[in-house]
Amino acid sequence: MSLVERYEQVVERIRRIAVDCGRGADDVQLVIASKTQPAESIEALIRHGHRVFGENRVQEAQSKWPALKAAYPDVELHMIGPLQTNKVRDVFALFDVIETVDREHLAAAIAKEKTRTGWCPRLLAEINIGNEPQKAGIPPDDAAAFIQACQAKHSLKIEGLMCIPPANEQASPYFARMQELARDLELGILSMGMTADYPQAIQLGATHVRVGTAIFGARETAG
Ligand SMILES: *Cc1c(COP(=O)(O)O)cnc(C)c1O
Repeated sequence: MSLVERYEQVVERIRRIAVDCGRGADDVQLVIASKTQPAESIEALIRHGHRVFGENRVQEAQSKWPALKAAYPDVELHMIGPLQTNKVRDVFALFDVIETVDREHLAAAIAKEKTRTGWCPRLLAEINIGNEPQKAGIPPDDAAAFIQACQAKHSLKIEGLMCIPPANEQASPYFARMQELARDLELGILSMGMTADYPQAIQLGATHVRVGTAIFGARETAG
């Protein structure tokens, strides 16, 4: 199967699952996780009509995306990886959405850059839904306070939540907690689900799924 055929298959599956669980066929946005993929493959998908992509490393994004964004200005790029405060300025220059706001120090750096530029990418808070010690993200019990602090102290609006559930476990219980959390906090965006588990994520309310492997095949280098 070609790249575009695999892409079409994923798009069709997302639409079918959404409809099967009573949602609209267009309710779930596919964010193509294009890390480690060459610009040529990404451009083939843009030319085919896709517009929303995610990258998890600033430096890698800087090597591919300035040219692609210049050629296709309506493409929307999501930051889906860990973000250091000293990279915030670079992220503002290239990304439209930051999905990984995960600590107040980072929120402060984003607020500062927002003041400097008069603009801000859209923001999601990353939740450490499995409370894993080694993993980034706000503990779910602290999510409400964190979002409140972003608003009150830094004048930043968090529009939704993102998570990567624990590996090698059933993801559904974690997705269900995320759905509950987003509902409690009255947030409209829920970014969850990757190649292995995006069908379950859609059933549990994902508005955005981030898929790489099902479209590009297995990555050769660690992502
Ligand atoms: C790589 C990546 C994905 C996509 O993972 P696949 O298993 O290749 O679909 C999703 N989210 C994040 C944060 C990633 O880094």
